Amino acid sequence: MAVRIGMGFDLHELVSGRALWLGCVEVPSEKGSLGHSDGDALAHAVADAILGAASAGDIGDHFPDTDPRWKDVSGAEILRRTAEIVRARGGRILSVDSTVFLERPRLGDRKREMAERMAEALGGAAVNVKAKTAEGLGPVGEGRAVAAQAVAMVGEPGEEV
Ligand code: MG
Repeated sequence: MAVRIGMGFDLHELVSGRALWLGCVEVPSEKGSLGHSDGDALAHAVADAILGAASAGDIGDHFPDTDPRWKDVSGAEILRRTAEIVRARGGRILSVDSTVFLERPRLGDRKREMAERMAEALGGAAVNVKAKTAEGLGPVGEGRAVAAQAVAMVGEPGEEV
């Protein structure tokens, strides 16, 4: 098996009147993520990291925001389909590490749940979620955006490492 690494990043604007979905968990919040999908920045960063590790392009290739099929699509659905893409290539998602950047609410008590939900949607993988604020700085710090980054390791048939 060849082990490959991928990285992902995402950012969504936070607005009133939208739900805040992060890591396939709805987080009670005054503001939610704006997006064609449900705006789950954490799930999107994780999907991009996995697609990167699988040399399978990016989330925009597979779930374009110009396609009405993906209107309001959940992060869980994107992760399920991403895992299918990896499996169809004979690969296996080994591990995911991620960080979500949000000023408020604090996510400390929801991180484990997000990791579990994403692992479930992926059909099994070691998933970790970390959470940080931006210390009041920039669009994230001012509560105008949520951002996330992730790395993933995928095993694929190939030269043993
Ligand atoms: Mg996104």
